[in-house]
Formats: sequence, C-alpha cells, structure tokens
Amino acid sequence: MICRSCQYSLFELATGPCPECGRPFDPADPSTFETRRRGQQALLGLGLAVVIGIVMITGFWFAQTPDYGFSRHAAFWTLFGSGLVVGSVTAILAAANRSWLGRVPLLLVGILSVWIGLFFGSDKFYRVWQSMPNPASEAFADTAPIGAFLLGWMPGMLVVGSVFGLSFLLLGWCRRRARSKSMLRSN
Ligand SMILES: [Zn+2]
Repeated sequence: MICRSCQYSLFELATGPCPECGRPFDPADPSTFETRRRGQQALLGLGLAVVIGIVMITGFWFAQTPDYGFSRHAAFWTLFGSGLVVGSVTAILAAANRSWLGRVPLLLVGILSVWIGLFFGSDKFYRVWQSMPNPASEAFADTAPIGAFLLGWMPGMLVVGSVFGLSFLLLGWCRRRARSKSMLRSN
C-alpha cells in the first residue's frame, strides 16, 4: 500500500492523511491508494514489450519459410492473423498496466506486429501465387505489399487502439465494481 500522490509507503497505517503529503487514504478502499509502485509497472510493461517484440519478430521470421501448400490465402491469414493476435494481446496487457511508461512500449509493439503481419502476409500472398504452376498475370501486379509496408501502421493503430480502449473501459468497470463491493463490506 503506497500513497497515490507521493508514493510514500502506507504499510500498517490506519485511515487518515498520508504522513508525507497529507492525501487522505482508506485501507478498505483500494481506489485511495496504489498497490505497486509506478516505476515497477513501467518496468513490467517495458520488459513485456521487449520479450513480446523479440518473440514476434522471431516468429514472423520463421513463418516466412513454409510454402503453405500453394494456398496464398492460408499464407496471408496465418501471417496477418498472427499479427492481429499479438497486437490484441499487447493491447490488453497495456490496458492492465497502471503506468503510461509501461503502456506505451506495449502499444508500440502491438501496432508494429499488426503492421509487420500485414506486410509479410501480403508479400507472401503474392510470392505463393507467383510460385504456382502457370500463375495468372495478376499475380505479378504486386503493389499491395508496398502499400502495406507504407500504410500498415494505420490498421495497426486502429486495431490496437480499439482493443486497448475496450479493455481499458472493461477493466475500469471491473475495478470500480470490486471497489464498491469492498466498500459495502467495510460499512
Ligand atoms: Zn503522500
């Protein structure tokens, strides 16, 4: 238990003002104090972002080699779908993090993974198409990967932003519910 304003440790103190800065707190009401230091939350978010980023890039690297059985759609959806899953997971983790210093790196890794998934997915889509026997001439009209490379951050921001916003609202609602329950219990 630490003060929300000055991060002073309120361990084993009774209800009242913070001895350091005077901000009132109540051990029965979790909204009036913080459980973990903001610095720890920032480090946790940054660490998770680095680990997820490394796993994501390694995964995409190895997903380039399979031939996906000549199905360009399977190739596209495997790569883009993986990017969407990683992007959504990092957005939820960012919403659960209590510090913006922890949230921002997670959100960036999420946007990056949707972006790379879209670019690698559309690139592989055309390369699988071109490797088929007697490919159609459309298979060589491959400007989509360049578009995904230049503009893929836009769908990335849209997907990660929406999942983050929804999770943020949902988590806030759950925390408020837990708080009002604990207040009912203490009265
Ligand atoms: Zn304080």
